[in-house]
Amino acid sequence: MSVTECNGSDMTRNGGFEPVFCTIIPPHVLDRLAQSDDPARSGRARRTIQRDAYERTQRHLTTVAGAPAVALLADAEPGKPHRTVYDARNGTDLPGTKVRGEGDDPGQDATVNRAYAGLGATFELLLKAYARDSIDGHGLPLDATVHYDEEYNNAFWNGEQMVFGDGDGEIFLDFTNAIDVIGHELAHGVTQYTANLTYYGQPGALNESVSDVIGALIKQYTLGQTADEADWLIGAELLAPDVTGKALRSMKAPGTAYDDDVLGKDPQPATMDDYVRTGRDNGGVHINSGIPNHAFYLAATTLGGHAWERAGQVWYDVLTGGDLQQDAHFTDFATLTLKAARARYGDGDELQAVTKAWERVGVRTL
Ligand SMILES: [Zn+2]
Repeated sequence: MSVTECNGSDMTRNGGFEPVFCTIIPPHVLDRLAQSDDPARSGRARRTIQRDAYERTQRHLTTVAGAPAVALLADAEPGKPHRTVYDARNGTDLPGTKVRGEGDDPGQDATVNRAYAGLGATFELLLKAYARDSIDGHGLPLDATVHYDEEYNNAFWNGEQMVFGDGDGEIFLDFTNAIDVIGHELAHGVTQYTANLTYYGQPGALNESVSDVIGALIKQYTLGQTADEADWLIGAELLAPDVTGKALRSMKAPGTAYDDDVLGKDPQPATMDDYVRTGRDNGGVHINSGIPNHAFYLAATTLGGHAWERAGQVWYDVLTGGDLQQDAHFTDFATLTLKAARARYGDGDELQAVTKAWERVGVRTL
């Protein structure tokens, strides 16, 4: 099987939705940690890489066996979240032991409570801002497993559920700490059910970028922030105190999120001038996503106010509108944002802000 970090669903091949597998920590970061001189550190990174590879294979086998990607609740009530949090108790069996269901009171474990809240915040943004009932638009139950494996330095969406590691405490902290990371992973589910962007090259970078955009919007919505108040960082709460950096990525200033002895330097470009051509990271999906990320940041901050309202609405319309092809390139996506802005808001500030944003990052529109 191909070793993709996040394999998208493919309706044409199987006649149905194939699960995706998406991790939050990009392979270039784990590869770098695995080469560390510190044997404990490199050992943990190798273990995380091995677990990721194993889980990816599990998803693949599930797909081949034809098992359904999702189990819908028969008694699901529209417009209400249906959350279940499980505890893997530092093992790797999924989903683990159920520890909190929908409507249950918070328990003693802060990790469980954060996962529950993060699933709820994602559901809330999709419903309140975009009238979308869960990630599939049809009330998909939201499941999460916490305390996956030991010192596991990642979190992932496997096409069916969220899974969170505790982090090693040295490089990464508990992966439920960052609500935008929870939102990022669940947004891969939204993409899976809508535009279904291929996870390679430019469509893959757009897939990654859409997840960062929705993740950032969930954080801003939860905090009640305007575009000017937001930090526009992804995973700011994930880095351990000794790491020299602010976050995993910066939408405001791609390439500046971290510069650390152990982690290396943030490789993201902000404009097409610095576009990275690489076969690694599925053709740089976590790298070149900096370009559409920065375009969204520019559009949202030019418009001001709540980013999920106008800029977010335009991006959401493109993702879900049916015109975005699976193999779309930056130019295709950018052109569709102009069309969506005009369709929803006419020839006003929105169209101008979006047009200028793509100009500034060097992406051509047609
Ligand atoms: Zn992702």
